[in-house]
Amino acid sequence: MRAIAPPLPSLWNDLELSVELNAPLGALTWYRSGGCAEVLARPRTVDALATLLSRCHEMGTEVRVLGTGANLLVCDAGIDGIVVQLNEPAFCTAQWHDAHSSSGLTRLGAGAQLMPLTAESAREGLTGLSALAGIPASIGGAIRMNAGGAFGEIGTLVRSIEFVSSRGELSTIPACDLNFGYRHCTLPEGIVTAAHLALTPGDPVQIRAHLKEVSAYKKNTQPMRDNSAGCMFKNPVDPTTGARVSAGRLVDLAGLKGFALGSAYVSPVHGNFIALKDGGSADDVVALAHAVQQRVLEHSGIRLEREVVVWSIAHDVKGELR
Ligand SMILES: Cc1cc2nc3c(=O)[nH]c(=O)nc-3n(C[C@H](O)[C@H](O)[C@H](O)COP(=O)(O)OP(=O)(O)OC[C@H]3O[C@@H](n4cnc5c(N)ncnc54)[C@H](O)[C@@H]3O)c2cc1C
Repeated sequence: MRAIAPPLPSLWNDLELSVELNAPLGALTWYRSGGCAEVLARPRTVDALATLLSRCHEMGTEVRVLGTGANLLVCDAGIDGIVVQLNEPAFCTAQWHDAHSSSGLTRLGAGAQLMPLTAESAREGLTGLSALAGIPASIGGAIRMNAGGAFGEIGTLVRSIEFVSSRGELSTIPACDLNFGYRHCTLPEGIVTAAHLALTPGDPVQIRAHLKEVSAYKKNTQPMRDNSAGCMFKNPVDPTTGARVSAGRLVDLAGLKGFALGSAYVSPVHGNFIALKDGGSADDVVALAHAVQQRVLEHSGIRLEREVVVWSIAHDVKGELR
């Protein structure tokens, strides 16, 4: 296993980016809790990002990328290495498809936020994004997670992405190589910097009506105001039918709605949302998610797989919760 090298100023001090040391990262997530990042870097150009990634790869320094932190939990102890955030203008622009566009595609920067873009797409008279109304995400995070729900997923709209590999190489990856699936795509190691989406012209009135319908559905079924990262677990596949079953329903059937551990609790509104009291401990969320996983396994024989990404010292906690 490769040793992890500390982030040194020589990795970034001649690059077009801003750097914050010991940056309170948890506060930038929807849990509003969790520890600091050793280094938080905000590149101003794609070239600066590519050079940073290439140098970190050579030195063996860990790099992670933060979107809007809506599917992320940062452990209380914080994380080492460099966290990159794409919130400078170079990564946040939208070039909407218009009648004169040669590709017929809309280009969205990976750092741009999905929620305002859904409203803007309605004003532009473009269909597609309204199916994702109410989902908190950056475009990069939405692609990484193939964000979506009852009305559709972003993967069906994506035609290609602009990408910087963990070695700092720039490329355009066609959607067919990304294998979009349920809350997943096969992204190589690296960072999405922009996406090209097929949004088709439609009637702005109808698009706005759809947007309202999707937003209302979300508000009525999910605790949108709580500190959470949305659904904690993926909906598992029922081995007998091959169909996905609701993880929230399994949590509910195990009698866990409202169940609490320390400052974390299973939402009484939606069993798949693990929420946190204001000022609570991110580690309580990890402990509660683990307890829920065990209880559902005992009750239904189904092992829930985590959807929320957990960042802790030295590596992502993948697969099983600790
Ligand atoms: C109240 C609430 C409701 C939600 N409802 C839904 C829903 O209905 N449907 C749904 O699918 N999700 C939902 N979510 C989860 C969340 O909105 C999505 O998973 C979203 O895609 C996360 O995007 P983000 O930018 O916040 O990513 P983050 O949480 O910041 O990061 C998630 C992962 O994506 C990676 N990532 C981020 N940016 C990039 C990039 N540029 N390139 C490569 N990787 C990147 C991160 O490294 C991390 O591994 C909800 C969350 C909340 C808090």
